[in-house]
Amino acid sequence: MLFDLQPKRRREDLYDREEELREFFEAVELGETLVLLLGIRRLGKSSLLNVALSESEKPFSKIDVRSLYFTHGSIPQELLARKLLEGLLKSLKGTDKVRVELMKALSRIKGVRVSGLQVEFDEKPDLAELLEKLDSWAEKTERRVIIAFDEAQYLRLSGIRYDGLIAYAVDNLPNLTFVLTGSEVGMLHDFIGLDNPKKPLFGRYAREITLKRFSREQSRDFLRRGFDELGVKVQEEEIERVVERLDGIVGWLTLYGYLRGIRKLSEKDALDELFERAKALVLDEISTLTRYSTRYWYILKAISLGNDSWSSIKEYVEFKAGKINDAKFSGLLKNLVKYGYLEKTEDGYSIPDPVVKEVIKK
Ligand code: ADP
Ligand code: MG
Repeated sequence: MLFDLQPKRRREDLYDREEELREFFEAVELGETLVLLLGIRRLGKSSLLNVALSESEKPFSKIDVRSLYFTHGSIPQELLARKLLEGLLKSLKGTDKVRVELMKALSRIKGVRVSGLQVEFDEKPDLAELLEKLDSWAEKTERRVIIAFDEAQYLRLSGIRYDGLIAYAVDNLPNLTFVLTGSEVGMLHDFIGLDNPKKPLFGRYAREITLKRFSREQSRDFLRRGFDELGVKVQEEEIERVVERLDGIVGWLTLYGYLRGIRKLSEKDALDELFERAKALVLDEISTLTRYSTRYWYILKAISLGNDSWSSIKEYVEFKAGKINDAKFSGLLKNLVKYGYLEKTEDGYSIPDPVVKEVIKK
């Protein structure tokens, strides 16, 4: 169902993204070891990743790094190792023979105990060694193993040098493919350091698949199909109005479809509730930043009100929050771009998500 709010898992529930899926499979078939799925929040990265993994027919493990980080407050190696191996075993659930082989291979690693789909460690696991063992198993059984970190930039906050570990694996373990998704594209780039000469992955090739928002036509078609699926009749004029307001962000279109088509709210109530929920979500998402400096908030506010140049934004922020020196101000702007809340083009700064913009403007 197109209007299901959960990240999609099955191809039939995923609207389009054919080209992105094709690229993903191509990268895996070619034996590429690093794939990045990029794009701002709610464009469908997790959905694309789920569908790609479920259709790839390779053993895989997917780790939701953001939720792991927020549940545990950090990401210790042991936890990551356990999630990784348990995910892998689970992905092989339907294919008993292969799973038994993998369980045997894992049991031969010192300190690792496997029972059913559960993995425990007698001593602190060495992740590099684990990955090496997985790589040899993959090579021997001619099965590429896919390891996916959803919202991988959160690995950065764990205090452990996971960037170095991933770099090592990408360079030295040819039978593993790492897939990293990131809504904070700049943070993810920083973390893996593809363009930082001081980092281990500098200058390496990565397959970058960047999700774009739907075109107007796609957005309209998405809504029509979703409503058709539910047997709900919606006027063309309503579809026009909604697409005009939500643009091509599939997450918002899906939420609208859910509120209107499943919850059966009127157009007005559905939009009101959507913006209500969006407000709570967005405030929560930027709270880590705004807690650090209220100026982040004023920058976003300034831009939502139509200021797009460096100096007009700064003027607004200084009016609200007092003097700030140029370098510091530029630093804040840069961070907002890194975190995906702002886009910078030759026309100046803008908020890429119209719903986020509207929520901040109010
Ligand atoms: P992201 O990981 O980029 O934040 P999600 O995959 O969580 O995005 O998707 C956000 C919302 O949009 C979810 O409700 C999901 O079901 C829906 N969605 C995302 N991509 C698609 C798609 N291609 N077709 C249908 N629904 C989608
Ligand atoms: Mg996601």
